[in-house]
Amino acid sequence: MSYDPAAVRAKYLRERDKRLVPGRTDILDLRHDERFARYRADPFTPYRRRDPVSDEVDVVIVGAGIAGLLAGAELRKAGLRRIRLVDAAGGVGGTWYWNRYPGVMCDVESYMYLPMLEELGYVPRHRYAFGEEILRHLEEIAARFDLVSDSLFHTEVTRARWDDTSARWRVETDRGDRISCRWYVLAVGILNLLKLPAIPGMDEFAGHSFHSARWDYAYTGGGPGEPLDRLADKTVALIGTGASGIQCLPPVAESARHVYVFQRTPSAVGERGNRPTDPDFARRLAPGWQKERMDNFQAIMLGRPVDADLVDDGWTRHYAAVHHPPRKEGMSLAEYMRAAEELDFSIMEEHRRRVEQLVSDSSKAEILKPYYRYLCKRPCFHDEYLLAFNRPNVTLVDCPSGVERITARGPVVAGRQYEVDLIVYCTGFEPELTPLYRRAGHDIVGRGGVSLATKWADGAATLFGMMTRGFPNMFVMPAPGQQAVVTVNYTQLAVLGAEFIGRAVRLMEDNGVEVFDVSPEAEEAWTAKVVDSFVDSSAVMSACTPSRINNEGHPELLNPRNGNYGRGFGDWFAYRERLEAWLRDGSFDGLEVSARTPAP
Ligand SMILES: Cc1cc2nc3c(=O)[nH]c(=O)nc-3n(C[C@H](O)[C@H](O)[C@H](O)COP(=O)(O)OP(=O)(O)OC[C@H]3O[C@@H](n4cnc5c(N)ncnc54)[C@H](O)[C@@H]3O)c2cc1C
Repeated sequence: MSYDPAAVRAKYLRERDKRLVPGRTDILDLRHDERFARYRADPFTPYRRRDPVSDEVDVVIVGAGIAGLLAGAELRKAGLRRIRLVDAAGGVGGTWYWNRYPGVMCDVESYMYLPMLEELGYVPRHRYAFGEEILRHLEEIAARFDLVSDSLFHTEVTRARWDDTSARWRVETDRGDRISCRWYVLAVGILNLLKLPAIPGMDEFAGHSFHSARWDYAYTGGGPGEPLDRLADKTVALIGTGASGIQCLPPVAESARHVYVFQRTPSAVGERGNRPTDPDFARRLAPGWQKERMDNFQAIMLGRPVDADLVDDGWTRHYAAVHHPPRKEGMSLAEYMRAAEELDFSIMEEHRRRVEQLVSDSSKAEILKPYYRYLCKRPCFHDEYLLAFNRPNVTLVDCPSGVERITARGPVVAGRQYEVDLIVYCTGFEPELTPLYRRAGHDIVGRGGVSLATKWADGAATLFGMMTRGFPNMFVMPAPGQQAVVTVNYTQLAVLGAEFIGRAVRLMEDNGVEVFDVSPEAEEAWTAKVVDSFVDSSAVMSACTPSRINNEGHPELLNPRNGNYGRGFGDWFAYRERLEAWLRDGSFDGLEVSARTPAP
């Protein structure tokens, strides 16, 4: 395709319109609809009966993923003794506990994504680590900081209520536990709510089905990194071609009799360039290397000048380039926008050419080409995904408006019935912008009986994106949509949030602070700063193919209060400096603190 701006825009809009169909965003309510509750069940760890726990600990951390583990580790360093992580999962790991589908791997470089590599003296085996290795590493962190012995797994927090009289949080769970704690930390995840599209007839399917985040190896056979030996005589439907679908197609195609891939929107799939870690690379790493690498990556993501691109992958080459097109001196805004569009087009053309080069059947290749601007959908990177379409046992089913229905025999698209034994829903997760009180999956009730859902009904209100007035002694791990900043490498944000919480608690302990709450002025000022720096990008984003990145076709509905500290993704470096300055100052600026002794 040659670069004719009007023709390109028209093509992109045509492709968008095919996908903007009624019902596109309808999803099942997995918590309340009993017919589908089984999709959330844990296939990995047997559920054990236990007696309810009734006691007091120093801190309850909800969620034992990267965020919860790092918060736990930093609070341990801060001197807290009784640290209790509570997780619906059967163990630690969060995302990496739940997502064990074949081929699962991180999509930012593992040397930055796996936390605490220097502290644990570990270097991942691959440039992009597979899920098993990430999970093992997170288990190591839990062991190193003794975070398992007091924890409760296969346990969902159902309610947490602040009790002013005792200055404690009262936490209730689905196992009948009643736990009091002084500090309450929410580390509930950013992509923790499974998304299952509401396709008519789903519950009529007579075969087997599951979501990719609950891979059923008992049915498929094998395990991560092993052939799925029970699929040899099975026909499989993979629904969804986002990050999970892309990673799991190649191993499924190698094992199954036949695979139908149901694609609504093609992802832009760039080169992954995965490879085993070079022993020389590992040997040359000097102290401080992981933070330096994260900062270097982050600077590039924010368009800041750097001496060298240490990571040098699709994120730094494409994603950062499209985010921060160079503005030559004297360029008008219109010229700049036009140059940005052309750069975007050239990068998307590179992706489309890659499809042509790797997929031998030109009609399949055409369907796999992404026609939208690069930032419209989370980019993917993979070395084997596109090649899998050259296999005779893989059929691509183009369904821009989604799968029509599911019958007892399998999916139906354009009136054609596809007969399958297994349906794997690679349909992802509710977006990270889903409000915190929904992602948390429980009522969080602060002073005066006001719930977080009520307080945040019109948008977030925080100090630093981590504390909110009326919810004393509660910290929220920073995340998108919560007045902090967004980082492509989530771990970098989790490290910062955890260090802040650990150091803030230490500071309060050292100064005899029993209870803190955010002052109204500080919360208003922080929220105003977030709202003021909100950039309304709906003019560009509404032309996008619908995806979670553009609020499924409605970017105009994004609430400025749920934005970031700084324009766009937020200013990471200013945010970090702000937190650091607050800790250094040590006067609890913006907080109301009291040294009240709790009632006996
Ligand atoms: C397959 C996959 C690959 C990814 N790759 C990357 C990547 O390369 N780079 C990147 O930056 N990000 C990646 N992400 C995003 C990823 O979610 C984050 O990087 C990170 O793992 C989130 O950690 P977390 O601790 O915040 O949340 P999670 O890992 O989601 O952990 C939250 C935990 O809280 C528990 N929980 C929530 N509510 C309750 C409750 N009420 N009671 C009890 N437990 C509760 C959940 O069960 C869950 O285990 C990926 C996500 C997926 C799904």
